[in-house]
Amino acid sequence: MSELRFRVVEKAFHTKPKEVSVPSRRPEEYFGKYVFSREKMFRYLSRAVYEKLVDAMEHETVLDRAVADEVAAGMRRWASELGATHYTHWFQPLTEGTAEKHDAFVEHDGKGGMMEEFSGKLLVQQEPDASSFPSGGIRNTFEARGYSAWDPSSPVFVVDDTLCIPTVFIAYTGESLDYKAPLLRALRAVDKAAVEVCHYFDPSVRRVHSYLGWEQEYFLVDEGLYAARPDLMLTGRTLMGHEASKNQQLEDHYFGAIPARVAAFMKDLEIRALELGIPVKTRHNEVAPNQFELASVFEECNLAVDHNMLLMSLMRKVARTHGFRVLLHEKPFKGVNGSGKHNNWSLGTDTGMMLMAPGKTTGENLRFITFIVNTLMAVYRHNGLLKASIMSASNAHRLGANEAPPAIISSFLGVQLSRVLDRLEDSSEEILTALGGKHGMHLDIPQIPELLIDNTDRNRTSPFAFTGNRFEFRAVGSEANCASAMIALNAAMAEQLKEFKAEVDALMKKGEGCEAAILQVIRRYIKICKPIRFDGNGYSGEWKAEAVRRGLDCETSCPAIFDRYLAPQSIVMFESTGVMTKSELEARNEVKWETYTKKVQIESRVLGDLAMNHIIPVAIEYQGRLIDNVYKIKRITDDEEATALSSENWAIIKEVAGHTAYIKKHVDEMIEARKQANKTEDMRMKAVAYHDVIAPMLERIRYHIDKLELIVDDRMWTLPKYRELLFIR
Ligand code: ADP
Ligand code: MG
Repeated sequence: MSELRFRVVEKAFHTKPKEVSVPSRRPEEYFGKYVFSREKMFRYLSRAVYEKLVDAMEHETVLDRAVADEVAAGMRRWASELGATHYTHWFQPLTEGTAEKHDAFVEHDGKGGMMEEFSGKLLVQQEPDASSFPSGGIRNTFEARGYSAWDPSSPVFVVDDTLCIPTVFIAYTGESLDYKAPLLRALRAVDKAAVEVCHYFDPSVRRVHSYLGWEQEYFLVDEGLYAARPDLMLTGRTLMGHEASKNQQLEDHYFGAIPARVAAFMKDLEIRALELGIPVKTRHNEVAPNQFELASVFEECNLAVDHNMLLMSLMRKVARTHGFRVLLHEKPFKGVNGSGKHNNWSLGTDTGMMLMAPGKTTGENLRFITFIVNTLMAVYRHNGLLKASIMSASNAHRLGANEAPPAIISSFLGVQLSRVLDRLEDSSEEILTALGGKHGMHLDIPQIPELLIDNTDRNRTSPFAFTGNRFEFRAVGSEANCASAMIALNAAMAEQLKEFKAEVDALMKKGEGCEAAILQVIRRYIKICKPIRFDGNGYSGEWKAEAVRRGLDCETSCPAIFDRYLAPQSIVMFESTGVMTKSELEARNEVKWETYTKKVQIESRVLGDLAMNHIIPVAIEYQGRLIDNVYKIKRITDDEEATALSSENWAIIKEVAGHTAYIKKHVDEMIEARKQANKTEDMRMKAVAYHDVIAPMLERIRYHIDKLELIVDDRMWTLPKYRELLFIR
């Protein structure tokens, strides 16, 4: 019966690593080969057009039609030389992943033939027939029109035979239907607000960039084994499977030697990523077996988001050429760690100042403290919203489990920075003298270099940790679009900085000096945002109780967490920063609830099907064999030993029968519960029903399936087991 399982396991075991040829020994020779970078713009455009384009990129000015035509012509020439025949507006709808519709570079020539064509109009704006992308009702079907518009701040690139043009996706009524449009607005808002605050310290600052460095975690599974697991194929995670006897207990996988097949995949992926201008840098094994990480060097946030989206699709593609499937789901396997995507975030100026990094002088450190404390305030005020920004049906399995960050947002600062803030808060004495000077930040342990302190003073359980010159938002899910978290964080920071500036200015108007005014506001903020600071163990039970006392958001239900987007203070924040309107927020929440419902619904159907047509038939067949055996023993003899033997078998029969009956009964109940939930019209209520009623049923049914897996004859079991899925050789 389970021949297929044995065949795929055997094949996976003997698959050899693929040979990967490196294009050149020096990555700088192939880095960005497929990107229309500035250097290529300069080569393929006239000087005047090049300058206008750079200006548009830097100052967000609009390109006029004639310039756009020339840019398009240059781009097409460059792309054609790389073999591109098609182009696409590449955008990020509210689903996971990206969307693209490919058109050839040809048009009717008006004389019955075809000619090559790619005008500025086609580059700058398009109208994808996008009525089937989620919009939360913003575009109802008779107004099913949205348009995609080029975002010149992210360069175009070539994948296979297609020129990809990063775009925003907007409804004709003006609302955003994607992640990029609000991200660009949030980045603009934080830029503007931060520049103003920077002027207290350096009047020459013109621009503040938000930076993002992501660390992408993922699992690899052999393709044959994957194909034999319908749950992995259809839902991205295993809905059943007993833990292997050995998983991550020995911690022998983390930073261990990378298996040869995986190393070949990584090498290939990195080359392809570098060719697309993605500055990938770090690779290593992660904690769980078959789990790995790839990190890139931080970049301007909008570009980093695009690069991460591009990388995820590249990973899926490259994995297949190596006989793997990549799992980006946050929790593909029960009992081993899930995957996240740490978002390292900071702000920096066009003058080269890193705003989250301590400096050497008193002034620099006041600037440092200003940005740190304002970040803490923003995170404190919007901790519920930030949690909502990283929440999804799949990430919900990871958060709050005993490994990833808990489902409560708090911030870890480390001993030194905490001490500095405590002293600032307590003392009216001139703290800045202590802060200033070369050894300011490591006053108490001067013999340890700063870098080392940053690397050792860490807390892995914190969802939002300060790590030396940046904050690391660790609660982001591995499958997520980073933009969701970055929109909320940058917008909240923009609002916070604006308010800070208003307060400092008010004090200065009353005659207070600039530094004194800043310090006064900062001191008050340190007191207010204290509840967000937590350096202890985020997994402990005491922390949950403590967080409730502190008034932090402790909601754990995914659909209820989405409500935070519609909380009055969130609406005020998003509207006042110009990032999103109330109606956009409402529409997006409809999409979130609907997506949540659909995900649980699909899982529930898949589990039901597998239970009925894989698990129960195998269990019954095994049971039949045992019954046969008991029957035969009884027929031959009725001596004592034989009776004992058959009663042992009888016990197993009863056990199998018990689990089977439970599964059958509860699959029926689950189907009924789905029918009930589906009657609910209201998206939120439906999602709540799926969360409260149906999701727990999946777990209960799984429990009995996993028990059966342990009892039933291994040779009969059809689905590859964890011990087979999780150990690539
Ligand atoms: P770790 O696993 O110890 O957190 P990694 O080296 O894997 O560290 O990843 C750190 C990430 O943080 C990289 O993407 C790196 O480029 C990024 N990073 C470093 N400095 C900054 C900064 N100032 N702002 C934003 N990201 C940063
Ligand atoms: Mg990290």
